[in-house]
Amino acid sequence: MSSGKGLRVCVIGAGAAGLCAARHVSAQSKWFQKPVVYELNSLLGGTWVYNEQVGADQFGNPIHSSMYERMKTNLPKEVMAFPDFPFPSSPDSFLHHTKIQSYLEQYCRHFALDQFIQYNKKVELVQVQPDQSWLVKVQDLPSQSVAEAIFDVILVCNGHYSVPYYAPISNIERFQGIRMHSHDYRNPTRFQGMNVALLGAAASGIDISLEIAEEATQVYLCHNNPSIPSKLPTNMVQVPGIVECISPQGFVLADGSKVQVDCLLYCTGYEFQFPFLDGSCQVKVENRTVKPLYKHLVHCEHPTMAFLGIPTQICPFPFFHYQLLWYLKTLIHPGSKLPSEADMKADTDREMQERLAQGIPKRHFHKMGAIQWRYMEELAAQADLDPPNPQVEQLYNLVHGRRKTKLTQYKADQFELDHSGKFQLRQ
Ligand code: FAD
Repeated sequence: MSSGKGLRVCVIGAGAAGLCAARHVSAQSKWFQKPVVYELNSLLGGTWVYNEQVGADQFGNPIHSSMYERMKTNLPKEVMAFPDFPFPSSPDSFLHHTKIQSYLEQYCRHFALDQFIQYNKKVELVQVQPDQSWLVKVQDLPSQSVAEAIFDVILVCNGHYSVPYYAPISNIERFQGIRMHSHDYRNPTRFQGMNVALLGAAASGIDISLEIAEEATQVYLCHNNPSIPSKLPTNMVQVPGIVECISPQGFVLADGSKVQVDCLLYCTGYEFQFPFLDGSCQVKVENRTVKPLYKHLVHCEHPTMAFLGIPTQICPFPFFHYQLLWYLKTLIHPGSKLPSEADMKADTDREMQERLAQGIPKRHFHKMGAIQWRYMEELAAQADLDPPNPQVEQLYNLVHGRRKTKLTQYKADQFELDHSGKFQLRQ
């Protein structure tokens, strides 16, 4: 597989995951050639590259980022940071998105990563070759010319908060109001005086409904989760999920009640998509699950392809760090070799069965939440890395609890370490 001068690694995307990949591949020059990072944007940062435009970019590609103007992180910077690169010190914990973009630029500068990134390059095709290497076709967007290159390893870092998923609603074609997805939400000004229904109450649904409540007459946060036990603005109510559209502005909800709205905003999440993977790669997405992956990361049939950051409800940057270092080790250390294809598939099946037995639906297979810590610890132990800092898990849990009951206030929280080394709320 190796050309003798080290493995040739292709990284698809220069968001946080792709940057983390470039940082660690380039640091192990004994084993790897200089990584090649293809990025279709003209800037690094992926999700964190705010674009006030919606729709298509200058080259006709869909705008990638779902970032909105006033967005502040829902995780504190102490939890978000890569383990080997803290955020610059500041009293604030929940940062405006521009600060995360600057942090990623600093990460890039600190580890001299820009030399590896090719901007305005869209990966169009990845194909397995008979010798198990990878053919990659890349379009240079300004000139539209297409070039080919061969790699030993593919790191898929194209993100999964870009392609909107619209939950189905019966007779939705009857609706005559504004219909949009949170991917295209930028700020609340256009909702002034409107009645707005937001469908879905995950992080974006909650955050955006609070913003819109500042301008709208009435906000309905429609969802089938347990009720959020927090005080909400007086013009915002939680109601059951939407079932059917019954008139140009009317919807029936899961409990049979009705609402009349001017706008329906889908906050129903995103699709996993890998349009550049040729059929030879044999990657499928079923029930919001990417298959066949071992540890949500390695392609069981083509283990020289890995997908960073597929799981949801995680702390993404530390997660990328552990996934990446563990995976690189499996490529270079004979003692850390991956199990056989059959064993990797059996391990994934076992995990799926365990989760089904716990009542977790198939479509939530990649949802981690509390189990992310054991996952990262396991990878760290297998790759001889320092385990995740327990203070980070403790702060994550502290914030999780505060968010539940103090939705409108928790982003003003600041934290400090007490004498026993635990994070406490700064009073
Ligand atoms: P992305 O950042 O999406 O980067 C993928 C990159 O791949 C992009 O630059 C894209 O242009 C490029 N690309 C895609 N296709 C191709 C192709 N064919 N060829 C070349 N390049 C390609 N995380 C937190 O930790 N804290 C938060 O508070 C938080 N808030 C969020 C709020 C919103 C609204 C969203 C959408 C996400 C939020 N996240 C948050 C999650 C965030 O997505 C991750 O933190 C992380 O930035 C994801 O990084 P990534 O590299 O996996 O993907």
